[in-house]
This record gives sequence, C-alpha cells and structure tokens, in this order.
Amino acid sequence: MTKTMTCIVCPMGCQISVAEGEARGYSCPRGKSWAEQEVSKPMRTLTTTVLLIGGEYPLLPVRTQLPVPKSKLMDCLRHANSLRVEAPVEVGQVICPDLAETGVSLIAARTAGGQ
Ligand code: SF4
Repeated sequence: MTKTMTCIVCPMGCQISVAEGEARGYSCPRGKSWAEQEVSKPMRTLTTTVLLIGGEYPLLPVRTQLPVPKSKLMDCLRHANSLRVEAPVEVGQVICPDLAETGVSLIAARTAGGQ
C-alpha cells in the first residue's frame, strides 16, 4: 500500500509517497525521515492552554517540549485540561514534567505576569 502526503517540515511542501517503508519524492533527508516516521509512528507537538491562577490573563498558552505520539494526543489534552498554574510564569517553564506518561514535558509558551 502506498501512502502519499505533503511534507510539513518546511514550507516547500514536497509530495512524498511511502510504499513498503520506502519514501520517494522528498527533496532532503529531513523530509525522508519525517515521511518514514509518519507512516510508522506519527508524532505531533501539542499546543493548548491551561488555566492561569492570579495572572493578567485567565489562560496560559502551553506546548509540549517535544513531539508526542499522535495516538497519545487526546490523553495529553485531557491531562493538560486538568492542570492549573499560578502566575507568574516564565516562558519555557515546565508546567508538567511527564505529560500523560509520554516522558515529554509541557512547557509555558509565553511569560505571564501576576495581577
Ligand atoms: S522534503 Fe525537505 S524540502 Fe521538501 S518539504 Fe520536506 S523538509 Fe522541505
């Protein structure tokens, strides 16, 4: 079976097809690696918000420090939705060190001061 996809690693958007684990149509090694992983174990960076207590805004933008397995995204989102963080927060601060047992940290995507 052949799977055809648009590479999302850079804005070139090459069309890559993977058949029996072999990628074709990529323009660079990064695209080849991405496509091969996309068919075997797709990964995604989760971006969302968590409740911010005592901050200038009610929500704090957060993201996973590294991509997590696509199959774990909903678990990660549920876990993130249960979190509350107190202001002030610095960009890059770890909000959860092991999000939904992925081994990946959830970190603040921006600095948020207190009221
Ligand atoms: S294959 Fe390489 S050049 Fe093409 S979109 Fe992917 S990263 Fe960019």
